[in-house]
Amino acid sequence: MPLAGQPASMVIERSSGQVQSAKTAASTYEYADYGSKQDFKQPKQITVKNGDKLVLQWTIHAQLTEHVDAHSFDLPAGYVEIQDQGSLRATLIAPGTYRVDGSESGYHTGFSVGSHSVAIYDAPISTAEAAKVKALIEQTAPGRKLAYLVLSHSHRDHIAGTPSYAQEGVQILAGKDGKLAVERQLGAAVASKVVEVTQARELDLGGRSISIYPLASSHASDMLVAYDKSSQTLFQGDLFYLPEIGPIPPVFDVGLELEQLIKQGSLQVQQLVGVHGRSGSLQEFQKALELRRAAQPPAEKT
Ligand SMILES: [Zn+2]
Repeated sequence: MPLAGQPASMVIERSSGQVQSAKTAASTYEYADYGSKQDFKQPKQITVKNGDKLVLQWTIHAQLTEHVDAHSFDLPAGYVEIQDQGSLRATLIAPGTYRVDGSESGYHTGFSVGSHSVAIYDAPISTAEAAKVKALIEQTAPGRKLAYLVLSHSHRDHIAGTPSYAQEGVQILAGKDGKLAVERQLGAAVASKVVEVTQARELDLGGRSISIYPLASSHASDMLVAYDKSSQTLFQGDLFYLPEIGPIPPVFDVGLELEQLIKQGSLQVQQLVGVHGRSGSLQEFQKALELRRAAQPPAEKT
């Protein structure tokens, strides 16, 4: 597959919006035999050619299921990796509200900047990548204290970069039993900086208050969701996913859990920033919820 960050061009069929092929300097990637499940299409066959020479051919048997984990969408990664992701940069989403784009892994770290402090959402996927992201944040928010690292959940790919932030003055927030999960994966020194959030908590960044909500999700029991009231932005990992390009897929079970949290907290949300995929508007989230409901109408009472 093309390396992330490597320039590539794509051919997209206008009528369907489907990617037909992608081309890098060395290779051509052809996507064929698109299968459809609900509103989401993926090619069942991917062919890699070097000039006229066949290099590789994958036939994908994986079917989209109702209960697929968000990460299943990362494989095959053709959708994400064929894009030119550009250089590492902080994309402004709303005032004081950023998402990191162009990381080597394709994961998106989010961060909120107040007048004196910064809150960072997730530390994917290695200490090396997190160190680069941390430098970018410091450059984007000069003079501010990196005060909080909020771990959306303790799956390794989301937290592996945590040691790069484990410095004096940084509080690492994790959900219930997250401290133990961090200790097992990253050691006692990093875990000693972890504070578990077991009920809603406010983080004061200076002129900006971030609410942290714990969520015992079916994806991970130690989920944390961050909400910035002033910019009406919600930061989450693996609860709601939109592919980097392409149509909106229906939400998974965890999307319903997120909807519940938004309702219970009466949160006004404009943007949903995810660690994976593109950011979504509230309208896109609602569309994904509708697609789910259309595919699975509630059971009729008898
Ligand atoms: Zn994830």
